[in-house]
Amino acid sequence: MLFSSIVYGPIHSRRLGTSLGINLMPTEQKLCSFDCIYCECGLNKPWHSKPSLPTLEQYQAALTDAATRLRSEDIKLDVITFSGNGEPTLHPDFERIMQTTAVWRDKFQPNAKICVLSNSTQLHRNDVVRGLMIADKRILKLDAGIDATIRLIDNPAQIKLTAKDICDRLEQFKGDFTLQTCFLRGIVNGTLIDNTTETEVTAWFECVERLMPHEVMIYVIDRKTPYDTLQKIPREQMEAIAARVRTLGIPVSVSA
Ligand code: SF4
Repeated sequence: MLFSSIVYGPIHSRRLGTSLGINLMPTEQKLCSFDCIYCECGLNKPWHSKPSLPTLEQYQAALTDAATRLRSEDIKLDVITFSGNGEPTLHPDFERIMQTTAVWRDKFQPNAKICVLSNSTQLHRNDVVRGLMIADKRILKLDAGIDATIRLIDNPAQIKLTAKDICDRLEQFKGDFTLQTCFLRGIVNGTLIDNTTETEVTAWFECVERLMPHEVMIYVIDRKTPYDTLQKIPREQMEAIAARVRTLGIPVSVSA
C-alpha cells in the first residue's frame, strides 16, 4: 500500500482520531532505512534514479490546499500524522518541515496534535531530534531488545545497528515519547522469527525499563505483509506482554 500524495486524508485512525496524513517520501515506491518484514508498503526496491522527495515549497503548497479543503468541508483534525511511504525523518528538510507544520497547525487547526511515526534510525542527527521535539507526539520504534532479532525483523540499512544504539539515542528524549513495537512470529526465508519468546520479551522489557517512555504501543500485523508466512500473535499473549509493562507504571495500548 503506497500513498500517492504528500498530504492525504483525513482518515479515521482508531488510535489517533481524525488524522491528516503526511507523506514526505516518494510516491512511486517506499524509501526507508529499515525494510521490515511486516511493512505494509512492501519491500525496498533498488532505485534506478535518485528518489525524488517533495521540496519544502511543494509541501507548503500541499498544506495550503489542505487548509482550503478542510475549511470548505468544516473538518476539525485531531492529529496531523507523519508516516507515509517510508521513514519521514530521512527527508533532509525534516526540521524546517516540522516548523512549517507547527505554524500551519496554529493558524488553521489549532486543536490538532502533530504526531510523527519514526523508526528511530536517524536520531544521531541533531536536526532530526530538534524536528521531533516540535511534534506533540513522537511514536518511535523498537521491535526487539536482541540485535540479531532487530536485523531479522527490521533489516536495517545500517547493518551493524544494535538495540543498544537505538536505546542510547532514544534516551535523549528522557521518556517523552511513545515506544512502538510490532510483535510477530513466522518463517521468513527458512528462518523462524519470533520476538514473543520469553528471552525476547525479557530483553525488550529491559529496554523499556531503561527508557521509561510515557507510553508503550504494541501491535500485531493487521494488513497484508510482504511475507504471508507471518502470523498474528493471539490477543492473550499480547495482553500478557502489556501486563508486564504496566508493572512499571507505563500505560500500554494493545492493537491485536
Ligand atoms: S520502518 Fe515503517 S516504513 Fe520502514 S520498513 Fe519498517 S514498517 Fe516499513
